[in-house]
Amino acid sequence: MEQWFSLKNQEPDALLFFRMGDFYELFFGDAQAAALALDITLTHRGTHDEEPIPMCGVPVGTAQIYLSRLIRRGFRVAVAEQTELPRKGQKGPLRREIVRVVTPGTLTEDELLDAGRANTLLAIVAPDKRHKDRLGAAWIDISTGTLELLRLGADTLAELLARLAPSEILSDPTLIPTEHAGIITPSTAHPNREVAERTVTEAYQVAQMDALGDFSDEQIVACAVLLDYVRRSQAGKLPRLAPPIDHGLDSIMGLDPATRSSLDILQSRDGGSKHTLFSSVNQTATAAGTRLLAHWVSTPSTDLALITGRQDGWHWLHHQPKPTGVLRDILKHAPDSARALGRISSGRPLPRDLAAIRDTLRAANKITETLGTLAETGMPERIRHIGASLYGRADALLERLEAALNTELPVKIEDGGVIAPGFDVELDRQRDLRDNSRRLIAQLQVRLAEDYGISNLRIRHHNQLGYVIEVPAAAGRKLRQHEGLSLRQGTASLARFSNEELTSLNQAILEASEKADQLERHLFADLAQHCLNTPALDDIGLALAELDALISCARIMDRGTWCRPTMTNGQDFNLQACRHPVVEAALHESAAHDTAFIANDCALPPEKHAILLTGPNMAGKSTFLRQNALAVILAQAGLPIPAKTATIGIVDRLFSRVGAADDLARGRSTFMVEMTETAAILNQAGPRSLVVVDEIGRGTSTLDGLSIAWATLEALHSQLRCRTIFATHFHELGALLKTLPRLAACTMAVKEWKGHVVFQHEVRPGLAQKSWGLHVAQLAGIPASVLYRARNLLTRLENERGQSNQPANLPLFEQAAIEPPIPQNDPPSASNCLPDGTLSALQALHKELEALDPDSLSPREAHSALYQLKSMIDGLAKMDVTDEK
Ligand code: ADP
Repeated sequence: MEQWFSLKNQEPDALLFFRMGDFYELFFGDAQAAALALDITLTHRGTHDEEPIPMCGVPVGTAQIYLSRLIRRGFRVAVAEQTELPRKGQKGPLRREIVRVVTPGTLTEDELLDAGRANTLLAIVAPDKRHKDRLGAAWIDISTGTLELLRLGADTLAELLARLAPSEILSDPTLIPTEHAGIITPSTAHPNREVAERTVTEAYQVAQMDALGDFSDEQIVACAVLLDYVRRSQAGKLPRLAPPIDHGLDSIMGLDPATRSSLDILQSRDGGSKHTLFSSVNQTATAAGTRLLAHWVSTPSTDLALITGRQDGWHWLHHQPKPTGVLRDILKHAPDSARALGRISSGRPLPRDLAAIRDTLRAANKITETLGTLAETGMPERIRHIGASLYGRADALLERLEAALNTELPVKIEDGGVIAPGFDVELDRQRDLRDNSRRLIAQLQVRLAEDYGISNLRIRHHNQLGYVIEVPAAAGRKLRQHEGLSLRQGTASLARFSNEELTSLNQAILEASEKADQLERHLFADLAQHCLNTPALDDIGLALAELDALISCARIMDRGTWCRPTMTNGQDFNLQACRHPVVEAALHESAAHDTAFIANDCALPPEKHAILLTGPNMAGKSTFLRQNALAVILAQAGLPIPAKTATIGIVDRLFSRVGAADDLARGRSTFMVEMTETAAILNQAGPRSLVVVDEIGRGTSTLDGLSIAWATLEALHSQLRCRTIFATHFHELGALLKTLPRLAACTMAVKEWKGHVVFQHEVRPGLAQKSWGLHVAQLAGIPASVLYRARNLLTRLENERGQSNQPANLPLFEQAAIEPPIPQNDPPSASNCLPDGTLSALQALHKELEALDPDSLSPREAHSALYQLKSMIDGLAKMDVTDEK
């Protein structure tokens, strides 16, 4: 327990997995927490301060499963292994050390990682106490070693967090928005610039920081905090690190958290990943390709050259279907070399990780061959670059791995048999010695059985005794007399002996096996080191991922109605027959797949850069708003878009406010959220931005809301001059068409058919004539009595509005005349809206109904009462009561 306490002290915040034989045991509070979280039995072992010590354990063989469950539930786990082999006559416990602290951001095991997503650990620091808003950020995906640094202001932090979606944040918790509290690992102290610089330069083994690039104080301090933590989590050893990338924000399209969450880019609002923009375009064949494509889609660019470079790449592949198919088949068999390298560098390589590097290099060579045959086809720059990154870059390593690795590999190096025969002379010799001695033992068994006349004499290997002669107990009693045989063990049923020859063979096998194992481990470590010393592997992994992502784009083009958008540096925006890829796919999948998605155009030329979009609920407004935003994201990620043709001037910031939600966790009402988000648009949008907003101002009283919507649209149109689609329920805003010259009106087409509303999902010029709210309410199943009442109220309100006089010089109220809410104690009487005579007929009907007591009626009485009521209603129907009333 002394040992346990001292290790626990090193990592007090983590559960301690304390290795004991074939189990990791947990004690005290750790045991109680783990037993609860894992639903495993809590027992006791020994006492401490005269109290029993709570204990539980998990088998080493299946520990990964338990680890992943604990990590998912927010625990950190410190793994303490025996780091010493038992020696003869040793007293006291074996030495144990923490070899690793497992946290959500520092995973490297395949089993614990999502193959298609980067696993990001992020450090945020504010090194200057006087300027708490000047932040440094550093993030790493340990499983691949990519590391990026950024200097940012506190105002852009939320955007960065939304983009990176880190698994763990290392920071002073007061700097981080509260919704991320669950993934923060508090880290309040940080080194000064000098110490930080030393940490970073030592990690990269360079003399000076300049060798890595020109980084700010904030970036370097964040990087040092990150590296210190990673080192601690990997028991003092840093994994392989790619050179730090300066992650400037200049060439990334701005997407704030609200926009991201309204567009379901990588994750849908319900937290799933099925119905997302990414899932609708992901056709990659490899995990690394999936991660790269996800990165492209979540980080749309504003760099025209980069975007068109990607487009050229997939456009060319799309026109080479046959070789592209061959390339994809090769990629399908290429393993995840980046993650294999990550594990190799973490000091826990598995034989299959080396095989993964070998197979990646084989795939790279095959791809170079295929690309070589296409050299004459006007290959675009990106593909040329991929070819150059792959060609012959690590041939020496490949040759070595091919010669060294056995065809069948064991799971762990300890199982032996990783290195192929013929690779190392000394290893072969020791293996021969070992195997020869085993043959000699087999011969010895035959000889001894004959000599002693015991046909069932066997020579067996025993864990503690080594090789022994084993005979049944009765035969054993006979053999005890023999000289030259020494009894090693006797039980009721058998006896075990040894002789000099067997002892020396035993010894020879033991020595040869040990030497072979040692040598094999050494050769394995040497191969692993070779991989780490081959920087071209990073380029190769990236090039394969990029090829995969580009082929994925080419495959989307095969679907037919997707296009390559023309991108410009102007303010163009013209989409023809554009669709929402996720809704389209959902319609296709659903039972009603005869309902095809209706494509819509959207043009926002400089002379009409704003659209006022009206139309009832359910008509398709949100879908239209989102599909235009999604098209921009795909286009600027360099991907094809779901439209017939498209021209898009690069968008610097995209704002989408569709379907705002409550933020009750942060104590903000729907209206407060809506206003905060609107404020963000008005403060940040510019002439190159695209704004798509739905129903601004709906969360407050009608007049407040209308005024806010009015003023916001004016500002977007006249001051910010951004491309805008503004969907609203306030038909009164139509008045703005007269005063805002660059505002166009569009509405969702709706047809009335037999008293029902039919949504055509088509966007047409003009303003909505009606809001159809009651029809939609009816569709939704609002009870008939409530609908009836609502219709009456609506008629009255509309009549009253028609009579009211508004001041003529207030444009806002030219058309708008909104009544205050209906006074509670003055309900509109039915007589207001019913023709003469109807009221008395209704009253009679009411009386009749009231007089009925269903429980006391006989069937015959009930029947005649029904006739009576029916005839009264028929009478009513003849009184010309219109549908509306
Ligand atoms: P609104 O925002 O006007 O209330 P939505 O955009 O939420 O309407 O659309 C409601 C439903 O109509 C969607 O869930 C979808 O099933 C369908 N829909 C929307 N647009 C289209 C379209 N262009 N083609 C086919 N169905 C559509």
